[in-house]
Amino acid sequence: MDKEIFVTRSSMPDYEEYIEAIKPLWDTHWLTNMGTYHKQLEHLLKEYLKVPDISLMVNGHMALELAIQAFDFPKGAEIITTPFTFISTTHAIVRNGLTPVFCDVKPEDGTIDEVRIESLITEKTAAIIPVHVYGHVCNVEEIHRIAEKYNIKVIYDAAHAFGVEYQGNGIGAYGDASVFSFHATKVFHTVEGGAVTFKDHKIYEKLYNLKNFGIRGEELVTEVGANAKMNELCAIMGLCNLKYIDSSIQARKHIFEHYNRRLSGIEGIITFQGNEKATKNYAYFPILVTDTYKNSRNEVYEKLKENHIYARKYFFPVTSDQACFKNKYRYIDIPCARALAEQVLTLPLYEGLSGEEVDMIMDLF
Ligand SMILES: *Cc1c(COP(=O)(O)O)cnc(C)c1O
Repeated sequence: MDKEIFVTRSSMPDYEEYIEAIKPLWDTHWLTNMGTYHKQLEHLLKEYLKVPDISLMVNGHMALELAIQAFDFPKGAEIITTPFTFISTTHAIVRNGLTPVFCDVKPEDGTIDEVRIESLITEKTAAIIPVHVYGHVCNVEEIHRIAEKYNIKVIYDAAHAFGVEYQGNGIGAYGDASVFSFHATKVFHTVEGGAVTFKDHKIYEKLYNLKNFGIRGEELVTEVGANAKMNELCAIMGLCNLKYIDSSIQARKHIFEHYNRRLSGIEGIITFQGNEKATKNYAYFPILVTDTYKNSRNEVYEKLKENHIYARKYFFPVTSDQACFKNKYRYIDIPCARALAEQVLTLPLYEGLSGEEVDMIMDLF
């Protein structure tokens, strides 16, 4: 049987390096609860991401849930967000007792269509939760302007945007908060993990309480919190991976450019063009299979699958069409999000995918 090629494969440090790095835990027996490595990774990521403040979490989803919770929005408040994302974004809003209001996206990059945001604002609107989908930067200036005008918060889902910079600033420095995922399938990972980045230091205390049961002393609990701390084994995985992140992104870049070369000139296949004011992290390689291509998106997906290449329809269906949300929220026409969801196919892209493998995939087009 042919080798199977999945859409992604986790980067890993050398086995010996990780084993060496976790050895001190057998002396200290300190495995979690904001230990040395948790603090060290927090410090290094704050620098690497160029953000004013950061709090590490057990995963990206809890980071999103707790970031939203940290702002104490009134129950039932409306949150303007996009349905062209991983289900986690919408779940985090709904699990906070808030109401998602789905805004359409832009066809050129899949991010929220800032031009449509204002018409969705009501007196119940508390925040905008846009997504830097595929690491594509949202129109942060316009979103900032709208948020100021209506006095609402902005929390970015930056799960795809690790290390991305916009006009020299860390992408996590925009908005009131941004959320990163360090899941094993992401550009940078801690096996499972995530972080909230933010400006206002008061949020640090709030998130600390939310991720650690609200415990502020041996006999003192000041807030109703969850448990969402990153443990030491995960923090050490992050410290190991962070050493190689630049070369890892560079390796992705080569594969990304190889795909671009092979796809250029193929009638009916569209690739996303980057924003020249932003750096890329080459997290994903989404393509759009349009009507002028010889096969439909689903036919391409099946053909690749028959050849043991598992591309993914990221993101189909749009989250607002999922069984758990369908017909539950205010109806808003989202033609661009639906069109993207019908056409998109995310091709395998990870450190270690060889040029021969990319050619093999491209020979099927
Ligand atoms: C991965 C992801 C999340 C959730 O992160 P986890 O670390 O898997 O919990 C949230 N939003 C988006 C857009 C993601 O891709």
